[in-house]
Amino acid sequence: MAKHLIFLGAPGVGKGTQAQRLAQLMDLPHVSTGDMLRASIQSGREIGLRAAAVMESGALVGDEIIIGIVGERLSLPDAAAGVVFDGFPRTIHQAHALDTLLAAHGDEIGAVLHLDLDDEGIVERLSGRRVCSKCGAIYHIRYHAPAAYGVCDLCGGALLQRDDDQPAIIRKRLAVYQAETAPLIAYYHERPTYRLVSGEGEADEVFSRIVKAVGAAG
Ligand code: AMP
Repeated sequence: MAKHLIFLGAPGVGKGTQAQRLAQLMDLPHVSTGDMLRASIQSGREIGLRAAAVMESGALVGDEIIIGIVGERLSLPDAAAGVVFDGFPRTIHQAHALDTLLAAHGDEIGAVLHLDLDDEGIVERLSGRRVCSKCGAIYHIRYHAPAAYGVCDLCGGALLQRDDDQPAIIRKRLAVYQAETAPLIAYYHERPTYRLVSGEGEADEVFSRIVKAVGAAG
């Protein structure tokens, strides 16, 4: 039976960085719906063409598209032991769809990790974020700078700022989070696997809190 891990929290709270690390530690696939959509855009696939304008505006891509790509992803053999979700679910409708999908496979949610950080910290992290255009590794111009300016330490790829990490779009994404995604906290809050984790501080500190929380969630 697969046990999937979910990260909840606003954009910029550190979900991507922490989900990548947790996936590596637990030897599970890191399933970021944002990365999957960006890959579809780059390769010119139909889904990408439909999603591109919505993503640039900071709004959410339609639930049916997202549920479709997640369903396909979970049917791949490497998802059999579980995956670490990043950026999914993002609406109540997606959370229901995930429950239905998991029930059909006899799978479970192993932990719901709710990362929390104040608004100031979130804006600072998003505006300083740089992402490797080749391997997706995440950097920050102040807190996690690469050894050579603009170059990924891991693969040598060029580091870029995401189009939706511009100040006006950041504000829109935070508003969308409050309206559409924050209600998920109430949805998962009563479950025994729900864990609130502070996203304050260095990535290493946050990561050790997460590892503890996953252990405690069983
Ligand atoms: P992220 O990389 O998770 O910040 O996602 C970037 C953008 O992709 C979001 O602002 C949305 O436009 C879109 N997106 C990613 N995941 C989802 C999702 N689960 N539901 C709807 N839209 C999503």
